[in-house]
Amino acid sequence: MLQSKLFYKTSKDISLEEKSVNAQLLIRAGFVDKLMAGVYTFLPLGLRVLEKIKKIIREEMNAIGGQEILMPALTPKENWTTTGRWDSIDVLFKLKGSGGKEYALGSTHEEIVTPLAKKIINSYKDLPLAVYQIQDKFRDEPRAKSGLLRGREFSMKDLYSFHADLADLDQYYEKAKEAYLKIFKRCGIEAIVVEASGGTFSKYSHEFQVLTESGEDIIFYCEKCSYAQNKEIAGYKAGDKCPKCGGKMLEGKAIEVGNIFKLKNKFSEAFDLNFLDKDGKKNLVMMGCYGIGPSRILGTVAEISHDENGIIWPVEIAPFDVHLLALFGKDSKVNEKINKESSRLQESLQKAGFEVLYDDRESVSAGVKFGESDLFGIPTRLVISEKTLAKDSVELKIRAGNEAELVKLNKIEKELGK
Ligand code: ATP
Ligand code: MG
Repeated sequence: MLQSKLFYKTSKDISLEEKSVNAQLLIRAGFVDKLMAGVYTFLPLGLRVLEKIKKIIREEMNAIGGQEILMPALTPKENWTTTGRWDSIDVLFKLKGSGGKEYALGSTHEEIVTPLAKKIINSYKDLPLAVYQIQDKFRDEPRAKSGLLRGREFSMKDLYSFHADLADLDQYYEKAKEAYLKIFKRCGIEAIVVEASGGTFSKYSHEFQVLTESGEDIIFYCEKCSYAQNKEIAGYKAGDKCPKCGGKMLEGKAIEVGNIFKLKNKFSEAFDLNFLDKDGKKNLVMMGCYGIGPSRILGTVAEISHDENGIIWPVEIAPFDVHLLALFGKDSKVNEKINKESSRLQESLQKAGFEVLYDDRESVSAGVKFGESDLFGIPTRLVISEKTLAKDSVELKIRAGNEAELVKLNKIEKELGK
């Protein structure tokens, strides 16, 4: 991709109204644009990150047998009155259409997926089953001051699993938990599995929490073992003994990036989702639901992985692998050579499998180019200039590091491949 053609604008001044670090960094770098509180446009750079997060999620959901579907965001009121959640979900966006017909914008999709599954599941032979979607959800969040962390429209992956009995649900739930941990690891974030309230039917749900000062949740976690609970349900105070290993419980603020629940028969009962077992007897289907927020993950990474100059993207979700900067001078002949070598390098890196953003702009100063490169936070920066070409070299700097080094042009792929 040529930076001269990229749809973006970096900005120094972010409106004072934008308080969150993640939105400030993302807006400054031209990754997102704010339409209103809690609602953002993803520009090409931001969208590339979001899509990479979704790709990781897809791969891990497919690996545990999830089949991708896409349900509508516009949903009829009746489905929500069936479960009583038309009135009980306080953040539900409600609309009135022509003829007075009422709708909700999906804030979660149990009300849609359960009657859908009823059309497909008849017998024990149809179970187990897991479907998921990645879709924008809508919630009329009263506090939408945390940038991408708390959107009113935001991206969610929601997977729903269907089982013949509790034992099968339990087993799948553990598999999903492992898959979630893989997702967070690949996204470059360390998530703690936290026991949290499970709603009406299970003692606990499990949240995946990332410790950081900007988090809205408070968790207690053991300094020694992996045990943790959300403060909302925990009977602890900081310094108490861990009930699992006797270690010290610490208190910290955290961002909830994922949440999984055993719904058991809560929704299958409401919609009479049943199956015939081996003896021809009717049983309610056991369900689990598993949510994760791609846009919240993106915001979380911006919160926890940056310096004063901009975001530092983990390799697997970076918008590009390599940011190639050409530093042009006044001599048009030299500039031609710089552009030729840079284009050649871009092409050969792309052939080798690297995604390269090439800053090919001639009329932009080196200072601006470096500043934007730091803002973008692409893991590897390469610089070509008259000086480096005189040594048949390119300057290599890792965004997360401090040192730049000269590498021979014909050695660079090998160097990056390491
Ligand atoms: P919170 O307690 O932060 O409001 P929640 O518990 O209501 O979130 P869930 O219904 O469990 O959220 O949603 C599943 C996942 O979707 C969350 O773990 C989070 O990653 C993401 N998510 C939820 N609400 C938002 C939001 N307003 N903006 C961005 N992501 C969200
Ligand atoms: Mg939750």
